Amino acid sequence: MIKKLNDLYFKELISSNEISEIVKSLAHQVKSDLPKNEVPLFIGILNGCFVFAADFIREFNGDCEISFVKLASYEGTKSSENVKKLIGINEDLSGRTIIILEDIIDTGTTLQEIYEIFRHQNIKELKIVTLFFKPDVYRKELHINYIGKNIADKFIVGYGLDYNELGRNLPAIYQLTTQPKMKNIVLFGPPGAGKGTQATLLKEKYDLIHISTGDVFRFNIKNETELGLLAKKFIDAGDLVPDEVTINMLKAEVNKSPDANGFIFDGFPRTESQAKALDVFLAEKNERINGMVALEVTEDLLVERILERGKTSGRSDDTDKEKIRNRFNEYNTKTAILKDYYDAQGTYYGVNGVGSIEDITDRLSEVFDKL
Ligand code: AMP
Repeated sequence: MIKKLNDLYFKELISSNEISEIVKSLAHQVKSDLPKNEVPLFIGILNGCFVFAADFIREFNGDCEISFVKLASYEGTKSSENVKKLIGINEDLSGRTIIILEDIIDTGTTLQEIYEIFRHQNIKELKIVTLFFKPDVYRKELHINYIGKNIADKFIVGYGLDYNELGRNLPAIYQLTTQPKMKNIVLFGPPGAGKGTQATLLKEKYDLIHISTGDVFRFNIKNETELGLLAKKFIDAGDLVPDEVTINMLKAEVNKSPDANGFIFDGFPRTESQAKALDVFLAEKNERINGMVALEVTEDLLVERILERGKTSGRSDDTDKEKIRNRFNEYNTKTAILKDYYDAQGTYYGVNGVGSIEDITDRLSEVFDKL
């Protein structure tokens, strides 16, 4: 998933699950290396470490103290003076085991300065733990005792780290990416809502590629391809084709048009796992879904519309009431929840799908223009 913070775009690099595992393993290593009954004083380097420090001490599983410091840099009286001062430490450190908690170490300059300040106190031992480390840019001799994960020299945010103070609240780590170039829209709605008709008009208007997974399946069935043979029995029954088959097909369709201005996805995603796969797939290309635009129409109106369409569409799933009901059942149980999925990302746009084709195109265009 791509996130926008101020003027820049970021994509997920390290999931929150992976971070939890790293933090757990760091805390356990630190604990097992300490003498029994030793009560260490953890010192977090603000601001970035606050999330890491909170998770770390809960995994540490032993008595400990925690304090935080900040390295404040201020101008001295002469303009050439740049004095650094540690603020936040009031404890008596003599005889203590001090363990510094850092969220990330890159060049090591801040860390070295903090280390120098502590080194001159009469402490028992000083160790350094960092969640992330950039080996390619580290310039100091100072030994880092515990490293959670080495990362490349990319700008990252999340899990306490910020870009201009934004992004600290994100549960995963995100990496700077290039600005998306495409307009990608999921055209959504129950079977028969008019997605295909509208997509055909909108793709011309916005110069987008229209991918209808239903059309691709039907094309394959007609041409008796392997994919067609596989999908036929699901489609004939009004069931969904299995996710893996559909997702792979969708990716292949997108990859056929690398220079597209964007895509209108019609009939995809239809399950939460398809939606997640689509997000990951687009994020790998530094792209994202701009919005889900949904045609809202009631079911009873739609069954009539589909039966009417069945007289001419030649679609095996358009003529039988039972199959149509099953398609709605699939929609209501597996697909309708996608509204919540996109709502949670702030990208759901509902449009009244009852009216003339032109009126509905106008309503959809209003949303497309905004995205
Ligand atoms: P449609 O033309 O979008 O109404 O799709 C017709 C049929 O193709 C559906 O009832 C499913 O059997 C299959 N199909 C189309 N898109 C998907 C999808 N994203 N996931 C699973 N099955 C699909």
